[in-house]
Amino acid sequence: MPSSSAAAHAGGRRLPLNQYVDGVLAGDRVVLARAITLVESRLAADAEKAAHLLDSILPHTGKSRRIGITGVPGVGKSTFIDALGMHVIRDRGEQLAVLTVDPSSPISGGSILGDKTRMERLAAEPHAFIRPSPSGGHLGGVARRTRETILLCEAAGYRNVFIETVGVGQSETAVRSMADFFLLLMLAGAGDELQGIKRGIIEMIDGMAINKADGDNVKKAERARAEYASALHLFPPAGDGWTPRVLTCSALKNAGIAEIWQMILEHQALLEASGRIAERRSRGDLQWMGDLISMGLEEMFRAQPAVAERLPALEREVRAGGVTPLAASRELLRLFHPPSSAPGKDK
Ligand code: GDP
Repeated sequence: MPSSSAAAHAGGRRLPLNQYVDGVLAGDRVVLARAITLVESRLAADAEKAAHLLDSILPHTGKSRRIGITGVPGVGKSTFIDALGMHVIRDRGEQLAVLTVDPSSPISGGSILGDKTRMERLAAEPHAFIRPSPSGGHLGGVARRTRETILLCEAAGYRNVFIETVGVGQSETAVRSMADFFLLLMLAGAGDELQGIKRGIIEMIDGMAINKADGDNVKKAERARAEYASALHLFPPAGDGWTPRVLTCSALKNAGIAEIWQMILEHQALLEASGRIAERRSRGDLQWMGDLISMGLEEMFRAQPAVAERLPALEREVRAGGVTPLAASRELLRLFHPPSSAPGKDK
């Protein structure tokens, strides 16, 4: 019975709307967790309540530092977030939420960031709230729910929100569009320092940290830092008055962490002073609105019976080289009618 298992998966019994609103605004972690479950739910019955909840808390959102953190698996993201998070909590006495954007791997179907116990100190820290990505979603869905989760955490009083993602596919673009500061974690490697990193990501970052700068690796990390710093100068400035910086750190030894936090604070102060933070957020919101429209259109497109029926055959033909992608896409788009004007649906 898919509906009951879906309900169980989504967390079971729901609260009345006002209990979600009051609990979240009071910073009640249990209610916050349940509110996140509600917005993550794919059940149609939950969607309306979630929308009302978000509307109600909206005036209390927007007051956090939203920090996106990315890097390939193994670079040390969880160790780094644990170290930086503990520093933030100790330094500022502020609360911190850690969210992840982790679309299922298209190849394995499993999550990339994994379920291993990550961020051990933060996990035991009452000032920290850690919420992994909803499981089994495609990027659009995961990113949507993460955006809404940011709002819920802000309404619950979290002054810092870390959004972690892994260096694959489009997830960086999504996280970049929801973050005020976008940090890329890197390793010092032999040879071409820019190898394996898509130019597109470098253009999006506000800062880079070469992690594992400890032991024998210190010199190599410093060399990599200098190389990246000069490479970054080749990119046109972002136009917000901020020049991306490259630092080194050791998440394991807790070295360079305070400096990275300082960089983030300086960036925030600069953007706040110039009013650019609001600009950046509204740009992110506009991009997000466009993404939502595209995703919604694609969903409608694929759900249309005429399209769904013809698509597999055309995919096969394109794969076999019998039809060009252009001709196939044009044929499918001709089959598509927006729902309100779909033939046969008119009363
Ligand atoms: P993630 O996959 O990006 O989240 O990476 P993890 O945080 O799980 O770290 C991967 C491995 O690198 C673990 O064995 C960590 O202990 C190790 N590691 C992380 N940060 C550092 C560091 O600063 N120095 C060293 N030497 N090892 C580190």
